[in-house]
Amino acid sequence: MNIILLGPPGAGKGTQARRLVEELGMIQLSTGDMLREAKSSGTEMGLKVAAVMDAGELVTDEIVIGLIDEKIRSDTGAGFIFDGFPRTLAQADALAELLSRNGATLDAVIEMRVDDAALVKRISGRYTCGTCGEVYHDETRPSAVDGVCDNCGGTDMKRRADDNADALKTRLMEYYKKTSPLIGYYYAKGDLTPVNGLADIEDVAKSIKLALR
Ligand code: ADP
Ligand code: ADP
Ligand code: ZN
Repeated sequence: MNIILLGPPGAGKGTQARRLVEELGMIQLSTGDMLREAKSSGTEMGLKVAAVMDAGELVTDEIVIGLIDEKIRSDTGAGFIFDGFPRTLAQADALAELLSRNGATLDAVIEMRVDDAALVKRISGRYTCGTCGEVYHDETRPSAVDGVCDNCGGTDMKRRADDNADALKTRLMEYYKKTSPLIGYYYAKGDLTPVNGLADIEDVAKSIKLALR
């Protein structure tokens, strides 16, 4: 089963993707995580995209499609969760092509609906474990012990360079201009299931599992 988690920055895509990995053994493919990794390890591509990401703009289709192409070849059968990809119609077309070339199909597109006011709160309170990637929030999902990861015990908590008011404004604009047309695109194809992303993390997880049945 291959699925897309579609939604604006802060909708909860990463949080839910990690749960699906744990519960269903699927593989999370987050282009944001891959790009941040390239950025922090200082590869040529990472250096190229750093300023674009920090400003909240989208990196080129060519780069992200290349990243996904590489990963999709190592299909293990459990299925992929595309988290933060595709973000443009060109990326959506490329994904369809890559999947069919690998004899795979797209089984569901989960649209995570969250309103803009909630997104600002989510983004401004977000921090993640630098060791295992667990996602936390100052108010809605704090770690049990301040500064210590519940999942791995790591103490390297991180806040993202682009989780600030200016970059968020640009990210939302990019989302509405370039990514939100995908909702209509997948609706027309009959693949779309909307989920109320404003509910508690547990309830969102339940709705997603229902949608995948
Ligand atoms: P969020 O969790 O806020 O939705 P991501 O971690 O998915 O953000 O992405 C962070 C940044 O990485 C984006 O603002 C953009 O610069 C870049 N990025 C991630 N995925 C893509 C993509 N599919 N296409 C273009 N740029 C991307
Ligand atoms: P995305 O990957 O879509 O950008 P994240 O999964 O990183 O979103 O979530 C953004 C922030 O909101 C994180 O701090 C996370 O802990 C928090 N969060 C995620 N889902 C919920 C939810 N259903 N209710 C409240 N907070 C949430
Ligand atoms: Zn951790």
